[in-house]
Amino acid sequence: MSSTKYIFVTGGVVSSIGKGIAAASLGRLLRSRGYTVAPLKMDPYINVDAGTMNPYQHGEVFVTEDGAETDLDLGHYERFLDVNCTRNSNVTTGRIYKSVIDKERRGDYLGATVQVIPHITDEIKEHIRRVGREQNADIVIVEVGGTVGDIESLPFLEAIRQFRKDAGAENVMYVHVTLIPTVGRWDEIKTKPTQHSVIKLREIGIAPDVLICRTRVPLPDEVRSKISLFTDVAQNAVVESLDVETIYEIPLLFERAGLAGLTLRRLGLPDTPPDLSEWERVVQRIKHPSARCRIALVGKYIENRDSYLSIAESFQHAGAANDAAVEIEWIDSSELEQGDVAARLRHVDGILVAHGFGARGVEGKLNAIRYARENGVPFYGICYGMQMAVIEFARNVVGLEGAHTEEVDHNTPYPVIHLLPEQRAIGDKGGTMRLGAYPCRLTPNSLAARLYGDTVIYERHRHRYEVNNEYRALLERHGMVFSGVSPDNRLVEMIELPEHPFFIAGQFHPEFKSRPNRPHPVFVGLVRAALERRHRHPYTPALVEHGSAGS
Ligand code: GLN
Repeated sequence: MSSTKYIFVTGGVVSSIGKGIAAASLGRLLRSRGYTVAPLKMDPYINVDAGTMNPYQHGEVFVTEDGAETDLDLGHYERFLDVNCTRNSNVTTGRIYKSVIDKERRGDYLGATVQVIPHITDEIKEHIRRVGREQNADIVIVEVGGTVGDIESLPFLEAIRQFRKDAGAENVMYVHVTLIPTVGRWDEIKTKPTQHSVIKLREIGIAPDVLICRTRVPLPDEVRSKISLFTDVAQNAVVESLDVETIYEIPLLFERAGLAGLTLRRLGLPDTPPDLSEWERVVQRIKHPSARCRIALVGKYIENRDSYLSIAESFQHAGAANDAAVEIEWIDSSELEQGDVAARLRHVDGILVAHGFGARGVEGKLNAIRYARENGVPFYGICYGMQMAVIEFARNVVGLEGAHTEEVDHNTPYPVIHLLPEQRAIGDKGGTMRLGAYPCRLTPNSLAARLYGDTVIYERHRHRYEVNNEYRALLERHGMVFSGVSPDNRLVEMIELPEHPFFIAGQFHPEFKSRPNRPHPVFVGLVRAALERRHRHPYTPALVEHGSAGS
């Protein structure tokens, strides 16, 4: 009999009610008691991974250390659990089917008719066990994407139903996350959708042990008792998940509700007092900052802010580290293509130009960078943001008119950004970028080295293009410093402008490595620089509205 325990988290009523955050919060509480917790997100869509999905629809693609392009919930798991996920921490219908079809082609099924039950469900169950084994986990937390009632989720739900029989009821717990809406002028609390959602789950053969009820208003005892009566879930296992100021408060809320205690009792594991002191400190700092600053986040996918989820979280962590709140000013880069860019950016204390692909909004990013460079505004560029910083410098400082990236302009006279040599022969779009963690060597005493406090760093990548080495010497002569390079010096990883108070950019995605308890040093540096600038140049809104404030 296996000693690994499994917690399955499903969702009901509607999507986007924080199932991933609820699962991650429970994981945090178990980890704070010394248990090894491995997360797994199962997504019912047919894409083999999230890498080919449009950020408008799906939000951010989270990149793991080992280079998988995954669902953004993995970011929550990494941040809440302070562990590194792997490419096995996220699996989709597409990946499961691909593996089963590959086996069928190899003849592994020895002539059997290959079916959803048992072949697909076996493949899902084997994946779940593999994650437990690989990470040597005491507890595997498995989140099933989608909502109960979706046709796509059925094979996953069937697999987790069977899992209880395979692993033993004492080793398996089911958590169902639902929404408790309120209606009418007096905010009447409605439990019916939750009742129906549990009925739907029971039809499949899964009886939840715990209900996590997302709600805007506190749930009185009689409401919890009613839910308990209709759903057969013990009243103390009907846990309320109130809307909170910061998501990092949710583990503390669940701790007070006794969720970890009842989970461990259910799974027959000893309960020990958790150490949540570090977590509590971060939450206090986020909730009660002593200062504030405003940083523009310039990007292409601003309509769906989930596209920049890890960046927004990194600002929260870096804000807390500086004892300050960071207000993000979300700016669609297309907005900066015409008009008075200075007027649009005058009131911000720092500018972050984010990653991206393709031509739209590129000139707006270049305008934002030019403004930051010329006005001493703290600037950080991520990936495409770094490539844009190189283009802006080439055009406006070196004088290479029309300098560009080959991604946007194939015929540019000055391709300062071009395709990585290993990318030239690649046709497939899925999983073929330069992905995952690579080492980077920093120049001693550069801003980068001072921020990191180190000269070798590992950061995660997701790109096809790079700085063209033919232009390095020329850019350097005009004052750009290549402060981070690959160990063989073939790839530029970081640039900076020493003449500027804080102008730095990187080819990688630092936001994937920031954790509430270990904020990312470049974000911490950017927020610190923004706070200093605000101190020197306090912003007076009335003046700006009349168009007469200096920067
Ligand atoms: N489009 C650029 C490239 O592929 C940048 C990618 C990114 O910003 N993640 O290199």
